[in-house]
Amino acid sequence: MRKVSILGATGSIGQNTIDLIARAPQDYDVVALTGANNIAQLASDAIKLKADVAVTADEALLPDLRDALKGSGVEAAAGATAITECATRPADWIMSAIVGAAGLAPGLAALEQGSTLALANKESLVCAGSLMLETARANGTRILPVDSEHSAIFQALIGEQMSAVERIIITASGGAFRDWPIEELAGATLDQASSHPNWDMGQRITIDSASMFNKAMEVIETHEFFDISASQIEVIVHPQSLIHALVGFADGALMAHVGPPDMRHAIGFALHYPDRRHLPVERLDLASIGTFDFRAPDEQRWPALRLARETMEAGGMMGAVFNAAKETALDGFIAGTINFVQMAEVVEQAMAHMSASDGHIDATMTLDNVLEVDHLARKAAQAAIHSRAG
Ligand code: NAD
Ligand code: MG
Repeated sequence: MRKVSILGATGSIGQNTIDLIARAPQDYDVVALTGANNIAQLASDAIKLKADVAVTADEALLPDLRDALKGSGVEAAAGATAITECATRPADWIMSAIVGAAGLAPGLAALEQGSTLALANKESLVCAGSLMLETARANGTRILPVDSEHSAIFQALIGEQMSAVERIIITASGGAFRDWPIEELAGATLDQASSHPNWDMGQRITIDSASMFNKAMEVIETHEFFDISASQIEVIVHPQSLIHALVGFADGALMAHVGPPDMRHAIGFALHYPDRRHLPVERLDLASIGTFDFRAPDEQRWPALRLARETMEAGGMMGAVFNAAKETALDGFIAGTINFVQMAEVVEQAMAHMSASDGHIDATMTLDNVLEVDHLARKAAQAAIHSRAG
């Protein structure tokens, strides 16, 4: 039996992970599940999977969690420290599926104890890529990408030499507004931005798909994880979301990964790696699909792509700035304080502010320094939001 934990178990990725694990309960010994507000889901999954411990991020909800787990033998805990602590409980495989920079410290803790880290939390690679990879190396373990594009790239690279890679192309659906007139984007509502044409995901990543901030994050994630230069990474709009990524080699060959838009593929690949096993995902009927469409991404519509390039050019801690400012701008949009197009303006302003502030971007990448830069970038983004909210 493999010992597994799921951080962010109540979310979209977490629930898809549980779906796979619950199909073969005899194969897994579940150590910890974590969540935040959805106590009923967290408790019922912890009981169903016979987890040792269930942890909520919200300390105020500990009594509710205790109540929901009463008599089950599952331990209850709460708070950010408890989440990081549960990631240090020995496990062979840990799913990192918390949303946002809150996933960084628990992910590092999982790597420090030598667990294989299945990484959906792209924010931790964007804000601390070298720290994550260095921690994995130092502890003799590995990170397996769970973002669909990065799983696709990883699979296309099996048996290949990185030195023969010319370019990596990641696909983008274009999100909710790919066909909207640009001048209407400022009026996009929260509801409109929260529905994705192809993927069923958490609200934050769905809005990030509409603004292309998700793809911008994924470009940085590709740069960090595969150690490839920014100039070798391309984004192509592919409305069907069936090709997830392509790797281009020195001989001109392109290896594409094709599959249905179902995260259980990338999760299952990471769960069974290095084996491939049966997964309950749709088998594509290419004749009925007919065509794959592609378009060049428009940087006027999606300034996030330019900001990602500038982040990689700046290097150092700029990824932490980019991520924190993006999270803050997204909070501002969800709260109705800024409009859809102002999110990119806020991120750009926070990046400019942080580059002008001495020493932060070039600081050594430690967890404390990343959290400090994250904090300052959130303040800078808040100021940019306030100046717009009048
Ligand atoms: P979600 O919003 O559905 O779930 C997020 C999870 O994190 C929940 O369990 C929630 O309780 C928990 N959480 C939220 N705030 C927290 C905090 N402060 N501390 C601890 N836990 C907290 O999100 P999701 O769509 O499942 O995405 C999770 C991660 O996976 C994100 O990093 C996202 O970018 C990435 N990802 C998601 C998809 C997808 O299809 N949903 C695809 C690729 C990558
Ligand atoms: Mg993705």
